[in-house]
Amino acid sequence: MKTKVCESCGYVGKPIPDEYSSFTVDAMIWLAWGAIAIITGIFPLILVAPIFSLIHIAKFRTMKCPKCENLEMVSLHSHAGEEIMEDHHSGTPHHWSDNDPVPH
Ligand SMILES: [Zn+2]
Repeated sequence: MKTKVCESCGYVGKPIPDEYSSFTVDAMIWLAWGAIAIITGIFPLILVAPIFSLIHIAKFRTMKCPKCENLEMVSLHSHAGEEIMEDHHSGTPHHWSDNDPVPH
């Protein structure tokens, strides 16, 4: 697994799988489609749920930041990742604290 950077808090590391919320989302989709199929009497509709579930798993492999649980983690070496690194991990911290006048 590649190292990723969190868009929200700037955490750098490996995202953790978000299996719980992934399961919750899928369960809700299954329940919703099950209810629609029963209400409408169109039982083939129930087949949409597993198809959607497969697409969901394949497309949105839910990985989240272990620090803030944000789902948006981008590759460290992508353009977006580098920008986040600059924002959150600036190489020149505290340069403002000594010389800048306090605005009062
Ligand atoms: Zn985060």
